[in-house]
Amino acid sequence: MNAPIKVIYILGLGHSGSTLLDLILGSHSQIESVGEIKQFGKYWQTFSDNSVKLEKKDRCTCGVHVHECEYWNKVKHEMEANCKEFNTLPDFDNKEQYNLNNYCLLKAILKVTGKKMICDSSKNPLRLESFLKSDLFEVFIIHLVRDSRAVAYSWARKGVRAGKAKEPQYNYYKVLKTWRRFNKNSYLQFSSLSNYFFLKYENLANNPQKIVSEILERNNLEFESDQLQFWKFKHHNIYGNRIRTRGEQEIKIDGSYLEYLTPQEWWLGTLMTMTGLRRFNYPLQR
Ligand SMILES: [Zn+2]
Repeated sequence: MNAPIKVIYILGLGHSGSTLLDLILGSHSQIESVGEIKQFGKYWQTFSDNSVKLEKKDRCTCGVHVHECEYWNKVKHEMEANCKEFNTLPDFDNKEQYNLNNYCLLKAILKVTGKKMICDSSKNPLRLESFLKSDLFEVFIIHLVRDSRAVAYSWARKGVRAGKAKEPQYNYYKVLKTWRRFNKNSYLQFSSLSNYFFLKYENLANNPQKIVSEILERNNLEFESDQLQFWKFKHHNIYGNRIRTRGEQEIKIDGSYLEYLTPQEWWLGTLMTMTGLRRFNYPLQR
């Protein structure tokens, strides 16, 4: 039987800082991060079907589309070989072979990079659940949480640019409801497991070296000082936010929500997510 693949799995809601964590972890010499690899099925199709519509956000961090990227072409080649070994086909629509397909893919990534561990920031609880049930993976869970009001503000601001009158794509209050449900369910479902690690984004941004060292220690690895300068390394992440394509940058909390939320938004947001804010030890006052 094949050895299980070690996966650091980031579980969290969008706009909670997973891209930052993913890039820092992926800059370790033994960990490869590939972003929201859950989306890979879509890109798999693009290798053979040029009618799939791709947007700018679909590009690999290296700047080109996945099917044009040398790294992903090598992964594709390896994956086909792995699948052949398992007498299966790379088929991301096949739910029954979900774990096996992902095993072939992650194994191919490790082979191409020569690294030992994968950081999967797909964030999705169902994918995590599936990996946990399988003996193909050895999973370390990072439940990443950010202040509900900051997350909702960030979603609601998406697509809205200063000076332009444009309707927000996401409703602040709806995002708060999602935050409440997502983090409560994730906490109740996974926090009793020994491989669960709770992480507040604010603690990561305030002291990345301390937090990342703790995570690495739990995975029998040591902190490498270059990791915090993640822009120096070539990454091939798929999906994730803009910080993955920027150059040199300072790791710091975006506190604009503290400034721009109206008193009503702040207090209603606080009330709506009070149980979670208390559970995760966030201040209620602005
Ligand atoms: Zn690439």
